[in-house]
Amino acid sequence: MSEFSIIDEFFKPLGLIGHSHSTDIGIGDDGAVISCPEGKKLVVVTDTLVEGVHFPLETSGYDIAWKALAVNLSDLAAMGAVPAFYTLCLSLPPRCADKSFLMDFAAGLKGLATKYGVPLVGGDTTKSDRLTLTVSAHGWVDSAKVLRRDAAKVGDKIYVSGNIGDGALALQALLKKYDAALVSSTVFDKFYRPEPRVKLGLMLGDIANAAIDISDGFIADLEHILLASNVSAEVDYAAMPFSDSMKQYLQEIDNPWLPLTGGDDYELCFTLPVSQITAFESAINKEDLGVPVRSIGTIVPREESGVIWKNAPELVESISAKGYEHF
Ligand code: ADP
Ligand code: MG
Repeated sequence: MSEFSIIDEFFKPLGLIGHSHSTDIGIGDDGAVISCPEGKKLVVVTDTLVEGVHFPLETSGYDIAWKALAVNLSDLAAMGAVPAFYTLCLSLPPRCADKSFLMDFAAGLKGLATKYGVPLVGGDTTKSDRLTLTVSAHGWVDSAKVLRRDAAKVGDKIYVSGNIGDGALALQALLKKYDAALVSSTVFDKFYRPEPRVKLGLMLGDIANAAIDISDGFIADLEHILLASNVSAEVDYAAMPFSDSMKQYLQEIDNPWLPLTGGDDYELCFTLPVSQITAFESAINKEDLGVPVRSIGTIVPREESGVIWKNAPELVESISAKGYEHF
């Protein structure tokens, strides 16, 4: 297929999803022109996925596309922003420049984009040896509601959404380091099609002090908040939310830090001042977030180590890697 027929057939229709009334000019010109809502700030996030690094080669086009958009919407959620539109830069190896792959790929984008009402407004399409995609998502936020990493305060309670470690567990199974038959399909679903916590992020804008999305591993990402905010955290290992499959893994394999150092969770970690806990609890009782949240610790004055563990199975010094790093 030619570059332009790919764009026309598969990407142009994705420009019609959702808030297309804010798109003055979309796919087809040299640049997109967007109307910004009055009084809002623009939040810009971007993430690249490379085959063999961020997803196994045999991953379906649907799942690759879903994940590329989901990880970006997860960053917007962690900033407290409403997703508004996105761009897609795509480098396709010959095996992917065909109709059946691209149809599946576009369906994955459509599935998630429709959920959040976000149009595709532009991008670039090139050929390369490795399937590589860069999505940049953009969202709107009130300046008073921006969620930041550097605003955690001593005394704040620390929360996480969902289960932590399922992405790491799915990867263990895919790498054949653990029996995939022991891992529930919901764990694999979460690995291939993470659900960005957009609703939670929007709710937190009014009440949380700090937030981050957990993408590189819980410990590594919590430490980003701790360093930026110049504080430490007391975290209760026994309170960490693990799925049943993860609990079984932990019983069978002596690797207690896997769930907290593996990546691909796409849950939110946030800190709430004690004065906001009642408001937060009544807000989550009123509105169905689609995901549970759990309190797992407290922000304390800065100490030498960022995270101080309670009820932990081993000393934290034994953790060789705190999270995924590329270099
Ligand atoms: P230019 O040469 O001006 O960079 P292109 O020929 O690369 O323009 O792209 C033509 C139009 O198609 C532009 O509006 C661009 O944003 C859009 N486009 C190209 N690739 C993609 C893609 N993968 N997803 C969405 N839009 C795309
Ligand atoms: Mg171009």
